[in-house]
Amino acid sequence: MGDDISLAGDISFAALVENMNDLLSASLTDDWPNVPVERAEGIYFFGSDGRRYMDFTSGMATVNVGHRHPEVVKAAKEQIDRLIHGPVGVVMYEPILRLAHELRPALPGGLDAFFFGNSGAEAVEGALKLARYVTERPGIICFYGGFHGRTYGAVSVTTSRAKYRAHYEPLVGAIHPLPFAYCFRCPYGQRRGHCAMECLAAVRLLFDHVIAPSEVAAILVEPIQGEGGYIVPPVEFLRGLRAICDEHGIMLIFDEVQTGFGRTGSMFAAQTFSVDPDVMAIAKGIASGFPLSATVARREVMARWTAGAHGTTFGGNPVSCAAALATLRVFQREGLAEKSRTLGEHAMKRLQAELGGRPAVGEVRGRGLMIGVEFVDPQTGAPDPAAVKRILKQCLDDGLILYPCGTHGQAIRFIPPLVVTRAELDLGLDIFIRAASA
Ligand code: PLP
Repeated sequence: MGDDISLAGDISFAALVENMNDLLSASLTDDWPNVPVERAEGIYFFGSDGRRYMDFTSGMATVNVGHRHPEVVKAAKEQIDRLIHGPVGVVMYEPILRLAHELRPALPGGLDAFFFGNSGAEAVEGALKLARYVTERPGIICFYGGFHGRTYGAVSVTTSRAKYRAHYEPLVGAIHPLPFAYCFRCPYGQRRGHCAMECLAAVRLLFDHVIAPSEVAAILVEPIQGEGGYIVPPVEFLRGLRAICDEHGIMLIFDEVQTGFGRTGSMFAAQTFSVDPDVMAIAKGIASGFPLSATVARREVMARWTAGAHGTTFGGNPVSCAAALATLRVFQREGLAEKSRTLGEHAMKRLQAELGGRPAVGEVRGRGLMIGVEFVDPQTGAPDPAAVKRILKQCLDDGLILYPCGTHGQAIRFIPPLVVTRAELDLGLDIFIRAASA
């Protein structure tokens, strides 16, 4: 940044944006699309260029009830006027207990006790620590393409791209990644529905050759991979993992940081697939943009995570919990999980009908309003990140913000806020389908 700017007291936002590379880490600024915005409301960002953008990233699967939902804003403001910070342990405050109480019925498999943190990565850290602590076993099995966050434990189980791990070794030990059930590009060269579930057999091979099941604390999986490419596994894969865990006393951890809060057409993907985990990591959509997450397990498991074994200063912040309570009530009143399912079916039908047959479109996949479209080179079938970049840029020019995913950046995620109307959804689909058909 030049002297003239750093010395001036009243630098404009435009000048700050111009110099963001000097002000922030390149790991933050070197991203897509970094649109300078003034404010947001509902499904829209309002750019400082005076334009309105449809946010079909939902602030990265976070503002499922829309940006600045009036009830969430009201609840947060009222809470700020009463109590901003505890921390829990030194004091006890109503929003954290009421949130735990009201979240319980929304959770799968009798999960009913919480450790609240601030971010998705923290919720994953908590899940890994809880599983090791309670089972007194070291091993963790995770899957290629999984994304679980950036802190050391979370990045140690993250394999969506090798670059996320580069230069950080040695990572946390006793972690064993195995290929995921990515049927479109089956790592075992099989065809969907015509295989012997080699992805499950790989877990048993691991037990034979690398680590005995009695040494494994947990199997960690995203029920639908997010960052890894919006990859929906066959339900048999998740059921198979559940069976392996039951057989060997291993904890099944679902990372529902991205799939949670109505995204897949149920409150949680566990319910969409009817497979219950022992532990869940949840975040993102929980508090509509306020920092909040939770590691969730059954009461008898949480009771064994004893004093001092884990802790937090900011986790379960009163304002975030108040925002989460308001979010939950909006969900219930507006039936947003159900809405995600029906609107998702409509979007999938349109995308499959209007894009599905195109040689450059490898696969349209998803559940609820968590939809991914993978682009391929029509000649070779190889992943086509260049097409993805071109389509994303065209959509942005047309006022629609979308975001890529996939190990090679070969897919586009389509995740509008769940409060989107059918007309708004169709408008976004029109823009995307036009750009992808050009
Ligand atoms: N787990 C999943 C499935 C995610 O998608 C993410 C973030 O995108 C994380 C964990 C990490 O969450 P956070 O960025 O809040 O730490």
